[in-house]
Amino acid sequence: KDAYGAPVIGEHGRWLGIVVVMHDITELIKLEQVRKDFVANVSHELKTPVTSIKGFSETLLYGAYKNEETLISFLEIIHKESNRLQMLITDLLDLSKVEQVGYEVNLQKVKLNDVLNRCIDMSTHLLEEKEIELAFSVEDSVKVLGDSNRLMQIMMNLVTNAITYSSDHTTLHISIFKNEKYGIFRIQDEGIGISKEEISRIFERFYRVDRARSRNSGGTGLGLAIVKHLVEAHHGLIEVDSEVGKGTCFTVYIPLVKS
Ligand code: ADP
Repeated sequence: KDAYGAPVIGEHGRWLGIVVVMHDITELIKLEQVRKDFVANVSHELKTPVTSIKGFSETLLYGAYKNEETLISFLEIIHKESNRLQMLITDLLDLSKVEQVGYEVNLQKVKLNDVLNRCIDMSTHLLEEKEIELAFSVEDSVKVLGDSNRLMQIMMNLVTNAITYSSDHTTLHISIFKNEKYGIFRIQDEGIGISKEEISRIFERFYRVDRARSRNSGGTGLGLAIVKHLVEAHHGLIEVDSEVGKGTCFTVYIPLVKS
């Protein structure tokens, strides 16, 4: 089906040759493989918490509920795994929305500082838990063309990751500035870092450098895939720079409002 030929007949039925048309389907095969991998990943990610919820609730029903300590500890596991399922489903739905061809964000005039303030407010709890300090270098009134909720989501993902992949008592350096074209948001952590080989893969769906660490910290492995699409929907850019053992720096460029 992917290659076909037709004879070319000239005057008086003279046989001139054959025209053969071939389609290169390498790209299609690759896409199909990516789709299959994605379905396999989704199934696996959903199956793990469901299996756990099912197992623990069954054990409780078969009598384990009689011991109060067991009851509480099993209920805690069931609760944690249901939260995980909920996060996965939320992220999956969100990813499928932002990945759609023609997906558009609602572009308005937004001050990056306002988004940052909201983001810091929401991260206080996580920062305090690990006693992580913040160091700011923020230019006033950097106004970009963006969707404030979606910009918030981009920042929250990067800040949460920076906290997750850093040790206690480290510092997060956050800056906001601009060049002639873009409003720029930069977050630099002093965490575990990402190797050169892995940097190119972190924006892939479900790619995690350390699966166990990411799962334990509540990550779905979809955050950066969503971030990448959201930045693109803003006609912006995202850059990563990292050194293993030293830390990671994410820089997001969002077009400035033309005044
Ligand atoms: P997750 O939910 O696993 O954090 P993400 O898509 O947000 O998923 O990130 C993908 C992977 O990139 C993470 O699992 C982690 O290995 C790596 N990563 C992301 N941010 C950082 C960071 N600031 N420092 C070190 N590694 C990071």
